[in-house]
Amino acid sequence: MRVSDVRAVPVSFPVPPEHSVRLGIGRSVKRDAVLVRVETHDGHVGWGEAHHGRAPGAIARLVDTTLRELLLGRDALDVTGAWQTVYRMQLASHGMGAAAAMALSGIDMALWDIRAQACAWPLYRLLGGGSRPVKAYAGGIALGWQPTAQLVDEATRLVSQGFRALKLRVGDRPGRDVERVHAVRAALGADVEILVDANTVYTLDDARRVMPAFEEARVAWLEEPFAPNDRHAYRTASRFGRVALAAGENHYTRFEFATLLEDGAVSHVQPDLSKTGGITEALRIAAMASAHKIPVHPHTSATALNMAASIHFLAAVDNPGYFEADVTTLNPFRDLLGGAAPYALDEDGCVRPLEGIGYGLEVDMDFIARHPLIEGPCYV
Ligand SMILES: [Mg+2]
Repeated sequence: MRVSDVRAVPVSFPVPPEHSVRLGIGRSVKRDAVLVRVETHDGHVGWGEAHHGRAPGAIARLVDTTLRELLLGRDALDVTGAWQTVYRMQLASHGMGAAAAMALSGIDMALWDIRAQACAWPLYRLLGGGSRPVKAYAGGIALGWQPTAQLVDEATRLVSQGFRALKLRVGDRPGRDVERVHAVRAALGADVEILVDANTVYTLDDARRVMPAFEEARVAWLEEPFAPNDRHAYRTASRFGRVALAAGENHYTRFEFATLLEDGAVSHVQPDLSKTGGITEALRIAAMASAHKIPVHPHTSATALNMAASIHFLAAVDNPGYFEADVTTLNPFRDLLGGAAPYALDEDGCVRPLEGIGYGLEVDMDFIARHPLIEGPCYV
């Protein structure tokens, strides 16, 4: 089963103003993704998603040129070997960085899809997991900066849909963040888990101001208060109170997670399967976190492929945390790309992995053709 072709397809859709959300990284104006298609000589086709890295055309080009050449003719079932080849030939020397890790992630996911097809199993079974419930929280591009009453309405609606946990966007002015978090806590009562995400924009002073108030509102984690390389700030803020810190969606490969775990400042890790090096690398990160008694909550990218894969992954590791359910009001990449919904919430606020072969999805080529790349920024 040799690799005969590797192709990336960057896709986009515009976000109309009525669906736009404001958060620490800006206001959403479009969504992007890079789909990666790997084909074998005997006709198997696997799909993966590489995160767009805010430059989807560039990530796609990296797959189509350099990485493709490294993989043509290789045994498609030797996922570890393919990973190591890309790492050794691309990441470890000239090309070490986020773009290469994202591109590799999409390829790795496509190869796992092919492996699953080769034994006609759902991915979770191939990974050694079982069909078990996975806790979900309401996340994605939602619950953003908005008037407090409007945010309370959105949060209340999500809880009425069955969510037992949700994630609010903070990183606005500290006073506004505290007001929103306390209003949502007051509206939802004690039983719903509230998580908050600053998308890297807090200063140490901001964190010092908000963390006692978040603790009072029983916030379960403060996600990415600072940029991922700001290790000193993470270590300092971890002593500001009892609110747990979370990070990982902008950490790449097990090597950056090794440092993150050794620093001891975070209590939750959030590798994104489409960013950190694919399923292969996320499994290594989960094992490392498990040894530190830290749960893994994969960050969710844009499409049903990443979402379904994340649930399979969570059903197969021994330290599963939450699945980040994308509750973005408009996301055709979630709803229409794969021919099936990537998740369904049960009455306990949990999801289960899909039962079909591989991810349990059928990528719709017509849908892809209707969503060509839109150049320009996705947040403004
Ligand atoms: Mg985040």
